[in-house]
Amino acid sequence: METQRLIVDNNVDSEKSYSQAVDLLNAGELVAFPTETVYGLGAIATNNTAVKKIYAAKGRPSDNPLIVHIGTFDELENYVADISDKARKCMDAFWPGPLTMIFKVKPNVLAESVTAGLDTVGIRMPNHPVALKLLQKLGKPVAAPSANRSGKPSPTEGIHVEQDLTGKIPLILDGGATGVGVESTVIDLTLETPVILRPGAITKEMFEKVIGPVKQPTHIEQKQGAPRAPGMKYKHYAPNAPVLLIEKDKNQVASAIQQLQQQGHKVALLAPQDFEQLTPEWFFTLGETQEDMAANLFHALRACDLTTADVVLATVTTTQGVGAAIMNRLEKSAGGKWYKLK
Ligand code: AMP
Ligand code: MG
Repeated sequence: METQRLIVDNNVDSEKSYSQAVDLLNAGELVAFPTETVYGLGAIATNNTAVKKIYAAKGRPSDNPLIVHIGTFDELENYVADISDKARKCMDAFWPGPLTMIFKVKPNVLAESVTAGLDTVGIRMPNHPVALKLLQKLGKPVAAPSANRSGKPSPTEGIHVEQDLTGKIPLILDGGATGVGVESTVIDLTLETPVILRPGAITKEMFEKVIGPVKQPTHIEQKQGAPRAPGMKYKHYAPNAPVLLIEKDKNQVASAIQQLQQQGHKVALLAPQDFEQLTPEWFFTLGETQEDMAANLFHALRACDLTTADVVLATVTTTQGVGAAIMNRLEKSAGGKWYKLK
């Protein structure tokens, strides 16, 4: 299959690209599109044959459910059995935006493989002009996980989607680099005290101002319990070379690089901009602030695959605010491993 990547911006030709995307989706095909978090790989969420193509294109395990994207608030009640007060407050505060809410699903409306056998469904209204325009023109719900091969870092640029899915999907709408850079926060509102299943740009602190206490289990706590979000149990975000975490301390990082190089390793370093003066074989910046770090992380992890580095060192951050989301992705990409200084 030939894969087209079409730039969508404010020029007239973009209208043709949107029409092409809508036609492909209506014909049961897949279309990748930008959202404010990462690129999504979409299929119409009521078409089971189309949704199954997502699992095939990504190589995604079939027990890992998909998030359903909607373009208007009104559609929500078509797909979910009950909208609680807390859910309404979150919608008012954070939609459209980088938030997925888990609801009890209305039976027999969405394709079976969207929910992967669960009685719940994750729904989000994204806040990206291209995603919203596509959803509103289509007027149907779109099931969309991140548009990467399963296990790889999520795509934050159209070209990342092309690298992973060329030949497997007909169309990528390219709207440039995404803003947030990490996937949406997933919160389960079907529980007495809501639980954050995946941290993201909408933080625990932000929820608590709107709906009171919420739980945010750490990555380790999540691994110990039964997985509530099936995605939690899979390897994720990994470049080809192993990733090792390290404190954000220049002396420690300098020693680690030296020790690894003495053992004959070629090192890629992911760290804040002011670590550039150190001497790894490759340096990829994570920027200055936590927002920069979220936006740059997947790009940096993917960049490692374009080098011949055989080990990746990545500096950590705190788990305050969006740091929780960054650390969640970093810990998964490293499989929880840290560099141990000799
Ligand atoms: P991605 O495929 O990268 O967009 O990630 C989607 C995430 O949402 C995965 O971690 C899924 O396991 C999670 N998810 C989707 N639907 C549900 C659901 N009904 N219940 C719990 N987690 C869900
Ligand atoms: Mg994903």
